Amino acid sequence: MRYSQMLLPTTRETPAEAEVISHQLLLRGGFIRKLSAGVYTFLPLGLMTLQKVTAIVREEMNRAGALEVLMPMVQPGDLWMESGRWQQYGPELLRFRDRNDRDCCLGPTHEEVVTDIARRELQSYRQLPVNLYQIQTKYRDEIRPRFGLMRGREFVMKDAYSFDADDEGAAASYERMRVAYNRVFSRCGLDFRMVEADSGSIGGSYSHEFMVLAETGEDTLVLCHNCSYASNVEKAVVKTPAAGPDPAVELEELRKVETPGQKRVESVAEFLKVPPQQIIKTMVYMADEEFVAALVRGDREVQTVKLKNLLGVSEVESLTEDQVWAAQRLPVGYIGPVDLPLRVVADNEVMAIVNAVAGANEKGFHYQGVNPSRDFSVQIVGDLREIAEDDSCPLCGGSLYFKEGIEVGHIFKLGTKYSEAMEATFQDSEGQQQPFIMGCYGIGVSRIVAAAIEQNHDANGIIFPLPLAPFQVILLNLGPNEEDLSAAADSLYQELSAAGVEVLYDDRDERPGSKFNDADLLGIPFRLTVGKTFKKKGKIELRERRSGETVLLAAEETLAEVQARIQSALGL
Ligand code: ATP
Ligand code: MG
Repeated sequence: MRYSQMLLPTTRETPAEAEVISHQLLLRGGFIRKLSAGVYTFLPLGLMTLQKVTAIVREEMNRAGALEVLMPMVQPGDLWMESGRWQQYGPELLRFRDRNDRDCCLGPTHEEVVTDIARRELQSYRQLPVNLYQIQTKYRDEIRPRFGLMRGREFVMKDAYSFDADDEGAAASYERMRVAYNRVFSRCGLDFRMVEADSGSIGGSYSHEFMVLAETGEDTLVLCHNCSYASNVEKAVVKTPAAGPDPAVELEELRKVETPGQKRVESVAEFLKVPPQQIIKTMVYMADEEFVAALVRGDREVQTVKLKNLLGVSEVESLTEDQVWAAQRLPVGYIGPVDLPLRVVADNEVMAIVNAVAGANEKGFHYQGVNPSRDFSVQIVGDLREIAEDDSCPLCGGSLYFKEGIEVGHIFKLGTKYSEAMEATFQDSEGQQQPFIMGCYGIGVSRIVAAAIEQNHDANGIIFPLPLAPFQVILLNLGPNEEDLSAAADSLYQELSAAGVEVLYDDRDERPGSKFNDADLLGIPFRLTVGKTFKKKGKIELRERRSGETVLLAAEETLAEVQARIQSALGL
């Protein structure tokens, strides 16, 4: 491809709207353009990169025996009413009506549609297992679309759905996808971890996320120095301290004390001269339709996914001070469990505190001498707090460390949630009708493009892993108006193209400096330059984008050297 014939609008300035590096570089490199919030056009170079990812994903899905389909993006509301998600799914589901006044939505995911296919097309256990996948545009009306391709409203996803006759089969389908996902992200050249993820009501170890390690990641990974433990922080189990309240400590009287203006744990601790561990922190949340209180020790944080699972609800929402006051007349900062008219969920640790400090549900007042077993009742006690870096590994007791990650894939056992709700059954070997056991498996195809850049860039631009690069080689002709240079560059371009090397040929009439800058910005792994050194010594310069290493080559050895390096970078 000749640069002069591409639509490749690069810019030097960093766009003000782009907070993270991948978004900045994708805009500066002319890969994408924004249409509206979270909705982007892929320009030619962006599409090429996306297609590199798509091809790897497709190959690995096919290798794992999944069958490619293409389901509609516009889905009838009726199906979503059958599954119950028309009510459950919040405003992320973009709903509208067609000319016949029928409810419709844009597909954010396709469990309903694929379950409908299964109940129509799969009748017998003999047809199972089946895994159907597609690579398609999804629409989610995200509350905060941001970071460019990282969290769009419209984005490309690979979604696969497996149908099995029994648990064993479902476990095997899950395992095949786990292997395929590891292959996909390895082949993309990404540094990633597979972590245990929240599996909601299903429980067990049937949900894993694939995380690309990068500082800008929105997820926190908990990893062990000593063993292979890897978990999303949402899911990481805190080893329960065995000790209950220390029986040697005498229980004090419950007494109300004035704490004017002291709303934060740290300030209450300082004001009352108690350690934060002595304070019961009380947070109010909306769990589905109910206000609930969550208690953790003052030095801990509530993990809302754990809260959601302990309560068995589908959503837990944080509330503002005003919302809590308006609905419950409770003053945030002074809320506590004593005489609290809400359902209370407490972390294990809270139950071991003796003579605690807690809010008095009255502005400017706290209680001291609060004792969980004596002074308030708790409906649920469990693992509620977020694990901390100084906790020990739940598997081996070793020491933990945290890393930030970008979720690029998620595999999940669904069980019979959709097949039961939508009456999708097959005939088993005894002639009985049984609901399919399902799994679902997503990959954020367009998010991978952003994640790859978050992980691979420097001050000058992108450094694509070779398998994802839109071109393998950028060839710079530094003398487009000089016959000898142009003849050499043209013939090298022909030679490389004929050999199947993916080359972007910079034949523009531009200054060398801007050609070098663009080459660095675009992140193409190998740069060939036909310039001064060719004039003087008849040599072509080969430079690797990542290491900056350069070598000089004779024209006739260039193709072989480039091919060898591509092969080795692809691990062939
Ligand atoms: P997140 O927690 O990031 O919102 P999710 O749990 O909603 O993700 P899934 O429903 O499991 O995501 O979707 C499968 C994959 O699609 C995710 O692993 C992620 O890589 C990608 N993805 C999800 N939402 C978006 C988005 N708004 N923009 C780009 N990619 C996304
Ligand atoms: Mg989401």
